[in-house]
Amino acid sequence: MSVEEEGTEKQRLTRELDQAHVFHSWSAQGALNPMVIAGGLGATVWDFEGREYLDFSSQLVNTNIGHQHPAVVAAIKEQADVLTTVAPAHANLTRGKAAQKILEKAGSSFSKVFFTNGGADANENAIRMARLHTGRDKVLSTYRSYHGNTGAAVVATGDWRRVPNEYSRGHVHFFGPFSYRSEFWAESPEQESERALHHLRRVIQAEGPASIAAILLETVPGTAGVIVPPPGYLAGVRALADEYGIVLIFDEVMAGFGRTGGWFAFQSLAEDGVVVQPDLITFAKGVNSGYVPAGGVIISPSIAEQFDDAVFPGGLTYSGHPLAMAAIVGTIDAMEAEGIVANAERIGREKLAPGLAALAGKYELIGEVRGLGVFWALDLVTDRETREPVPASVVGALKSALLERGLLPFFADNRLHVVPPCVVTDDEVDRALAIYDEAFASLAS
Ligand code: PLP
Repeated sequence: MSVEEEGTEKQRLTRELDQAHVFHSWSAQGALNPMVIAGGLGATVWDFEGREYLDFSSQLVNTNIGHQHPAVVAAIKEQADVLTTVAPAHANLTRGKAAQKILEKAGSSFSKVFFTNGGADANENAIRMARLHTGRDKVLSTYRSYHGNTGAAVVATGDWRRVPNEYSRGHVHFFGPFSYRSEFWAESPEQESERALHHLRRVIQAEGPASIAAILLETVPGTAGVIVPPPGYLAGVRALADEYGIVLIFDEVMAGFGRTGGWFAFQSLAEDGVVVQPDLITFAKGVNSGYVPAGGVIISPSIAEQFDDAVFPGGLTYSGHPLAMAAIVGTIDAMEAEGIVANAERIGREKLAPGLAALAGKYELIGEVRGLGVFWALDLVTDRETREPVPASVVGALKSALLERGLLPFFADNRLHVVPPCVVTDDEVDRALAIYDEAFASLAS
């Protein structure tokens, strides 16, 4: 068999096995025809037949360090030679180092890390900590959010995925700020911030402040549309949480570890040098780019200390799994050594902000461009005045046009999310912008 024939055979077998045996997330299974990915490096992936794609999805917005970073792969291999698994009750050097490095990046307001297998169970355990800390039950979160696919996390979620899964109790939703599609008739970001804060205060009062354990917020709502909060909003939520004795949780599962051009989004969003500090931070994805599944909760001392004497009633067999921990240490070290977070910030400022704005200048379909770092969304509309979202057929056509031209995109509802890895180069961004341009042009014609 020639190399080409071997590739075609592997491609066929991958499709066949997938269709016969693999049950996929969030989908009706019958009509699925998933793209085959055989390998990747940096911001590029390829199939078995040699077709290459610029990965501007970062898979599920998680490969912040790109595919197959050699230092992270080496760190995993090295740990595999030493110890591939260990119970969470034991002390493990790699786990301790991973926690130490995460805390160094989170800052002095935090003292401990509880490790989980991913983002959903990070939120699950943060909610549990908030409930135990306050002795209260309710959790407030926004309609424009995704927090994961487990009991409390999926009911804390605001989007459609919550509705068929509402088995968890004590969840209340509210509207966060979103200037482009304001629920508050606001005419400026400042007005949006003020009115969204008034709305949240009224929800807290109406629910009964003494019953509310936590406010859970994606610092920058991601899947819901890369909705950067307007000035003063995070500080206002912090003030409300303090006023009513509520634990503030920032979900940084998608926004953390370089995505916004800072180690954490709440740090990127500092105003006049003031960083709004949450009580708990949840993370996953970019912490080790998903090379080995991991997530966790970063805990402030006042909550961590409560469990010095009281038992924390929660745990996971793979909490702090050594291969995942090695991938975290390898990732943070490489990000530091190679200036990868700074690269994400610069690419956002110098390349994506002007490049995407230029596209919006050319194509009426792009209603708004918003984002920072390597975390952007194009809000696609049929009419710039009414801001009517484009129908699914337009999204489908654009997706095909991008794939045909060698770019793997990320779409959510009517939006094209531009979310390359933090290691993306100027040249790759230029190539991607040219592909977006051609794809939009093909739609316009
Ligand atoms: N929180 C946010 C903000 C997310 O974007 C996601 C996943 O996309 C999650 C939580 C859930 O993470 P996981 O899929 O690792 O459970």
